[in-house]
Amino acid sequence: MKSKILLIGIDGLNLAQALEASPTITALKSSGFFTTITMPAPTFSGPGWSTLLTGSTHEEHGVSDNSFIGHKLHHRPDLLSRAFYNDQTTTTFAAAGWPALVDPVGHGPVIHERREQQLAFVHRVIARDGETYGYDVIDAEVHEAAIYAIENKGPDVSFVYFCGVDEAGHVYDSVGPQYKAAITKIDAYVASMIAAVKARASVNEPWLVVITTDHGHRAEGGHGGDTPAERASFVIAQGYGRPNPTWPQEFGAHELTPLLLAERA
Ligand SMILES: [Zn+2]
Repeated sequence: MKSKILLIGIDGLNLAQALEASPTITALKSSGFFTTITMPAPTFSGPGWSTLLTGSTHEEHGVSDNSFIGHKLHHRPDLLSRAFYNDQTTTTFAAAGWPALVDPVGHGPVIHERREQQLAFVHRVIARDGETYGYDVIDAEVHEAAIYAIENKGPDVSFVYFCGVDEAGHVYDSVGPQYKAAITKIDAYVASMIAAVKARASVNEPWLVVITTDHGHRAEGGHGGDTPAERASFVIAQGYGRPNPTWPQEFGAHELTPLLLAERA
């Protein structure tokens, strides 16, 4: 049976810091599939999420920084789009506060607009602007929208994105109390989304919840370079109404989308 997939993207999450401030994510790391992955440099969010969400290398998607200049994303459909093209009964949902990921007016977007499917209510996109209004406010809206979608729609493939942790890393640093407090806030969002998934999941409606990040942070805050702290990412995958996935312990960031699509086979 095809699993429903909820991919939660937490921008700029340093896992070592997270394990001191995130009871839910820490528990999922133990109970679910877990592996570390190493992001290719430059470790900016544009190339990082483009790689994770389209299953493409930097060379293939052409996103080299957050300007998206020269991108080839029109030729690199995202996870949600590919799931739909594989099976046109697939319903999809994306919610994000970084416009480049979802807003057709911005750069990109990485998640294809697919306007016809939006008009047919099989693809829903919640696009917000955390860059302007702050991710503290916008992440909360994204979370509310995600909970509504999971409880009332149960989309087949979802991407829900939070950026408050990355924002805290830039404003303060990635080792202090502000960064950990931002992690704890997003961890609570993850917990309530998991609760909403658990309330639906069964052998007749299996779900796979996956958590990843696009890069880490230098201790003083900031990323883009090729240090281990900046390139560090991970994948956690927890099955509900189904076993955890049996994925290899080593794979590249561009291989996540193909692995997720295989769970829809
Ligand atoms: Zn950042």
